[in-house]
Amino acid sequence: MLHRASNAIVDEALRYDCDVILFEDLTHIRERTGASWGHKWAFRTLYEQVEYKAEAISVSVKQVGSAYTSKRCAECGFTADENRLTRNDFRCVKCESEANADYNAAKNIGIRYVRRGQQSSRRTGNSQLALKSGTVTSSGFVET
Ligand SMILES: [Zn+2]
Repeated sequence: MLHRASNAIVDEALRYDCDVILFEDLTHIRERTGASWGHKWAFRTLYEQVEYKAEAISVSVKQVGSAYTSKRCAECGFTADENRLTRNDFRCVKCESEANADYNAAKNIGIRYVRRGQQSSRRTGNSQLALKSGTVTSSGFVET
């Protein structure tokens, strides 16, 4: 199952001509998600498989800090516990945008990475993030 998942991730990066695959920082994933040790092993193994397979096609794999990514609205930036209704549902109490909770968190991880690139002294900036529903730039999410 992990091999199927890691192949699918790397295939998608190839299909959208991506330079980077982002994971949220896995250090505290067990504490944050309540996952078992077995789950933690699975996350780590998935990450290692993706890293290995991506290297073969010159795509880099990076981890981005995951703090508040599940409670922050990717549309307007408002962050609150109340935004996260259930495990699967995200609804911003400020701008009322709704999304799958994991998809919203993934957008936040992308935005965080793009912004970090802009702020770094090496100015890796001008990154864009391809999503199925649009593009993330440093100024936010653009629906296409
Ligand atoms: Zn919002």
